[in-house]
Amino acid sequence: MLGNVLKKVFGSKNERELNKLKPIVEQVNALEPEMQVLSDDRLRAKTQAFKERIDKGATLDEILPEAFAVVREASVRTLKMRHFDVQLVGGIVLHQGKIAEMKTGEGKTLAATLPAYLNALAGRGVHVVTVNDYLARRDTEWMGNIYRFLGLSVATIIHGLDDSQRQEAYNADITYGTNNEFGFDYLRDNMKFSLESMAQRDLHYAIVDEVDCILIDESRTPLIISGPVEHTGDRLYEEVKPQVIKLRQHQDRIVRTMLDDASKELGEEGETDGALELLLKVKRGDPKNSRFLDLVAKRPALKKKLDKIEGQLSTEKLLPQIDQDLFCTIDENQNLVELTEKGFKLIYGGHADDYIIPDLDGELRKIDESDQLTGMEKKIQRRKAEAFYREASERFHITRQLIKAYWLFNKDVHYVVKGGQVIIVDEFTGRMMPGRRWSDGLHQAVEAKEGVTVAGENQTLATITFQNYFRMYDKLAGMTGTADTEAAEFKKIYNLDVIVIPTNEPMIRIEHPDVIYKTEAEKFRAALEEIKQLHKKGQPVLVGTISIEKSEKLNRMLTKTGIKHEVLNAKNHEREADIVTMAGQKGHVTISTNMAGRGTDIVLGDGVKELGGLHIIGTERHESRRIDNQLRGRSGRQGDQGSSRFYLSMEDDLLRIFGGERMSSIMERLGMEEGEPIEHGMISKAIESAQRKVEAHNFEIRKQLLKYDDVMNQQREVIYKQRREALTGESLKPAIEEMIRGLSEKIADEFADEKVLPEEWDWKGLREVVYNQFGFRLNTDRGTMDGLNRDGLAEVTFESAIKVHEEKERTFGADEFRQLEQMIMLQVVDNLWKEHLLAMDHLKEGIGLRGYAQQDPLVVYKQEGFEMFMDMIERIKEETVRFLFRVQVALPEEMAAREKAKVDQLVCSHGSEVAGQPVRRSKKKVGRNQPCPCGSGKKYKKCCGK
Ligand code: ADP
Ligand code: MG
Repeated sequence: MLGNVLKKVFGSKNERELNKLKPIVEQVNALEPEMQVLSDDRLRAKTQAFKERIDKGATLDEILPEAFAVVREASVRTLKMRHFDVQLVGGIVLHQGKIAEMKTGEGKTLAATLPAYLNALAGRGVHVVTVNDYLARRDTEWMGNIYRFLGLSVATIIHGLDDSQRQEAYNADITYGTNNEFGFDYLRDNMKFSLESMAQRDLHYAIVDEVDCILIDESRTPLIISGPVEHTGDRLYEEVKPQVIKLRQHQDRIVRTMLDDASKELGEEGETDGALELLLKVKRGDPKNSRFLDLVAKRPALKKKLDKIEGQLSTEKLLPQIDQDLFCTIDENQNLVELTEKGFKLIYGGHADDYIIPDLDGELRKIDESDQLTGMEKKIQRRKAEAFYREASERFHITRQLIKAYWLFNKDVHYVVKGGQVIIVDEFTGRMMPGRRWSDGLHQAVEAKEGVTVAGENQTLATITFQNYFRMYDKLAGMTGTADTEAAEFKKIYNLDVIVIPTNEPMIRIEHPDVIYKTEAEKFRAALEEIKQLHKKGQPVLVGTISIEKSEKLNRMLTKTGIKHEVLNAKNHEREADIVTMAGQKGHVTISTNMAGRGTDIVLGDGVKELGGLHIIGTERHESRRIDNQLRGRSGRQGDQGSSRFYLSMEDDLLRIFGGERMSSIMERLGMEEGEPIEHGMISKAIESAQRKVEAHNFEIRKQLLKYDDVMNQQREVIYKQRREALTGESLKPAIEEMIRGLSEKIADEFADEKVLPEEWDWKGLREVVYNQFGFRLNTDRGTMDGLNRDGLAEVTFESAIKVHEEKERTFGADEFRQLEQMIMLQVVDNLWKEHLLAMDHLKEGIGLRGYAQQDPLVVYKQEGFEMFMDMIERIKEETVRFLFRVQVALPEEMAAREKAKVDQLVCSHGSEVAGQPVRRSKKKVGRNQPCPCGSGKKYKKCCGK
């Protein structure tokens, strides 16, 4: 049977790949009778036998056919499901570290048991990654029957587990959990103070379910663990908020007037230059203005013209002239806002000095070149200039974030407010994501806008992108119904090949062509009409919407008609799975935000097949074709009947923002009338090309983020390795002696000028430096120092320091001292790394602002980032030694308490508005007499600030 299926298969390369797997599948099939006659115990004993074979050198590939046959038989006995041949193919592809594209409902969950079992035999753990906790739990329980039957252990990592529970779960042979949990555990582990408390073992093999969602959609933003800084940010948000409201009011007023004038002119004289100019201004000042959107929706040609003019003016650098009447400009497409000069004046009124960002570079140069200031005074002046610069940039940044919050972020679309909190709504799934925060101060801005408590800025303690996390696995594999459109990205970023696996039964879903209306209202009316008709005959309908807001709208419309229906959106996601399961029952109408309920199987109810199966209605195209395909794929599973249709309107974001000229000209050519839909292949093509454009743009963003993160990634690897080494319990003594040696050499270089006699050297300065570094006064009696050269000085310094060091060791006892070394080293590494992360953020941000004409910002970032990193490595040595020579014993209990205090305050977040953009965090310094932010309860100067 497989042979037949395979022949019909897609691309020839794919076909060749599949053909290679055919003999293996046949081998597994041939082993079936043998397995069927084994008793349960004998079948289970296979697990031990396999392990022994592996110990003796057998490879997993050799064992594969028999192991798969064992799992298939175990599945038949426990779950009453026999892996289809295509699932075997999927299993092999997963084992090979590739992506298996298997359509929705093909049984990927079960397919994954094959490679999970096989690879778990190696004894290093297997991670199966799901998109949410619910699925992780479900799959553990469900598939766990097979694993447990075969004598393997299985566990789940979910939110809310403590360290020891996590450790236990990771020690299982197979561990299910979400991408966030795995990623955060990795970061948290690398903040731990002992190896024993680390949760994860190896990153051996991961199978990522819904791999496109995790490795593409969710990879647009990094995972961040942050800890609190002082609560100073809030004040600024509150301070700036009224100004931004004022700005909005003023802008609204002029936009209204402009629209009035433009409409008048359009009515009387058509598209005059004057009218076009006014409308362009409106577009730049309030792109989401509903009157404006109505106006251009009715005149597609107008939109085309506006885009064109805008493009032209932009290349000719004439946009500032258009913008000068506005207070701020909003670029919806790129998510950028800009204050105009007029806006500046309005917002900053009499105290412009507070806001205008000084030219730091110039200021610093002036200070450096001044010959009236002493060195010390220069230092102080520099500090002052820097502080001033920081405060002004912060205020400016907050202003911009507030503008975004007011113009671009809508309640119930991008976020909901619940229980006094702003909760992000996931753009792809429509699910609420409590606990996640937009970074870069945007979240605070939205909080300020909504009048809920503004949470303090957090400072990054650890961060990683999913790309870099998942690339650490020795072997990575993935599965999803929709990977093929993104095959290039999987290959380039993750080196993952996509293999399209044929369906078990032929797919017979009917995909109707898109229908497109002029306005959104017409579109919804038409969709509603179709729902009514299908509902009358009892056929179930699943309606996909693009946001909660649209869901609610449709909900209201349906309620009026009296049709019973379920709404699935971010507001009741607890019941998501339950509702979706029922979506295929007779007479059911389900409204769902796009993609909600991913992973839940929709089984058709009795008599539904005869009615045509589940019908899918899409009410808007998503930016990405993949997401549309996901929605379609909810119907027609396992060869079921089914159908789908998308309803679109010219007012949809995708058509509006990215449709561009092509769409407008098609519309014009086809002559679109009010209330009259158009169904035309050309439109579907134009939409697809718009989607491709956006997909490519988003891929660029992700690549950019990754390039920046790659710089950090190398550094992170070095630091995490160093930390782990410090934790292995190996003595740090040789390393520390090496540090002392290096520092002594450095001091010698600084003070031993061989061109002058030793008597002339700056002995006082030398003593100060040695004291500062090693905490003892170097004996510089004439006798000892006579006739010394540079090497001699280095040697004397080193010897004296070592003596002091050994003396300390004796007082503390060797064991205790080893511990002390370890703790100090870790603390220093953590502190400096934390500072470095912040500095790297600033660097990224700064480079963004610098706008080099000729240099690639990434190259600059790499170079300067590297220098900063090397600096940090130097400082780690200096500070470790300095602390070690000074600090009195700290008890391990104290360390544990401090670690706990730190952990309690950690915030794990994922998601920011624009990935790849610099992330800014509070730069407020902690006062020396203020409580230490590490949570120790001590003053900063007595704790981390020492
Ligand atoms: P996917 O993740 O590929 O969308 P699921 O793993 O959720 O699909 O499985 C879809 C449905 O198919 C489930 O109800 C499952 O029980 C059923 N199924 C999967 N494999 C088999 C099989 N070999 N035999 C019978 N039913 C199966
Ligand atoms: Mg699934």
